[in-house]
Amino acid sequence: MPADTAHMENPTKSDGERSLERLFALQKKAHRDAPYPSYEERISNLDRLIRLTEANEEKFVNAISEDFGNRARHETIIAEIVVTVSGVKHAKKHLKKWMRPRKVSTPLHMLPAKSRIEPQPLGVIGIISPWNYPLQLALAPAAAALAAGNRVLIKPSELTPHLSEALFNAVTAEFDESVCAVVTGGVETGQAFTETPFDHLLFTGSTPVGVRVAQAAAKNLTPVTLELGGKSPAIVDKSADIAAAAKSIAHGKMMNAGQTCVAPDYVLTPGDRRDEVVSAIAEAARNLFPEIDTTQDYTSIVSDRHFSRLQSLVEDAKDKGADVVEVGSSNALNPQRKLPLTMVIDPPMDSAVMQEEIFGPILPIISISNETEALDFINDRDRPLALYWYGDDDTARDRVLQKTVSGGVTVNDTLWHVAQENLPFGGVGKSGIGAYHGTAGFETFSHMKPIFYQSRFANSSVMYPPYTEKTDKVLSIVRKIL
Ligand code: NAD
Repeated sequence: MPADTAHMENPTKSDGERSLERLFALQKKAHRDAPYPSYEERISNLDRLIRLTEANEEKFVNAISEDFGNRARHETIIAEIVVTVSGVKHAKKHLKKWMRPRKVSTPLHMLPAKSRIEPQPLGVIGIISPWNYPLQLALAPAAAALAAGNRVLIKPSELTPHLSEALFNAVTAEFDESVCAVVTGGVETGQAFTETPFDHLLFTGSTPVGVRVAQAAAKNLTPVTLELGGKSPAIVDKSADIAAAAKSIAHGKMMNAGQTCVAPDYVLTPGDRRDEVVSAIAEAARNLFPEIDTTQDYTSIVSDRHFSRLQSLVEDAKDKGADVVEVGSSNALNPQRKLPLTMVIDPPMDSAVMQEEIFGPILPIISISNETEALDFINDRDRPLALYWYGDDDTARDRVLQKTVSGGVTVNDTLWHVAQENLPFGGVGKSGIGAYHGTAGFETFSHMKPIFYQSRFANSSVMYPPYTEKTDKVLSIVRKIL
């Protein structure tokens, strides 16, 4: 029995695990039978992705909202539908160029041989997606993997069952399952997924689970791309326009109720402008969402567990002496788990809100006295997934960007670097390994195969043994021209 299927006949396995094993074997065979899908086939697969996303828009909007309690319709359309479709269209536009062999130069003494890097499909790609942008974070990596000519299995989060079902139905209706399929199931299916010998595994989720995924994948030496989380700072420089920075920070923090991997986690502000920053963010938040209880524009916290986790972060900071500014109120009954923007002013560093990724609309505002202190604050912590800098002083900006190592950066705004398909998207250190989007995604899911084409006019046998004086002469000429 081949290694890939050796563990296949255990009756105690869940439906999800059995379906995973069947689909993996099917896709593996399909890849062996047809390892290099043509440009036309790949374009047709990308068209299928666009079609299934657009045709099911209403179903996806409703399913995600049902999963969250309330997910703002426009947020789903912008962040799930539009971002996904524009990413797929970008791949379609550039695919011909991406598929071409890359010419690289060959050293003089080896001419007229040629050297090329030829992108090759890896085979079967596994994608594990989280609940916070459950459609985009399943389909955007799938688009990159299909563009690169692979087969794809997607394992969505168990926390968004309605979306997972809608996604399963949409993908099943559009794709042959030997090309792209969805596997649903609980944590045990997730674990089995990470133990499957994929040709590449892309995981989007939290850093602690990312560690487990990397450990499980390492047993098969499955290469991984880990799109993780962390605490992303927003730095308000003393040269910043506070009102403009506040509006952008409030938006970045309140979109999807802060349940965004690249949301600003905390703000670093000059101490003498802290109160101005707090008032400006509060005003901006009120303007964005005047009535958080009743508006459908403000998204709910995804589950009771996360809701009480976030509430206890605030309680812990209060207990440790921090002042808290809550913008707007939350209904006492709160059937939709709406949590207002809550600023925590200069919390002690041992408070939970400064120890873990917040992933909700709670915003620590931290006073710093100078740029060095801001740099130390960031560099004393794990490398963030994103970094935001606000100001007009380009020299100060460049100093901060050179002295911090983060995933992506947006200057004078939040979030938007993620929507630039020409920029690779990914973290660094504890916020992730590898990247996708645009060219980076195509190359992540390709084997960039180096090929040396020897010329029939080559005379490399002059370097073969037995070594003679002639060999030494040739060697000495080669060493001179190197
Ligand atoms: P999570 O790590 O709890 O779960 C992510 C996925 O992993 C889910 O599909 C889940 O079913 C699966 N999973 C859970 N345990 C597993 C295990 N032991 N083995 C294999 N799979 C397992 O994350 P989440 O709560 O769904 O998402 C929130 C986190 O994701 C935050 O930390 C956020 O910053 C991060 N995130 C990162 C990005 C990014 O692009 N870098 C994007 C969105 C979210």
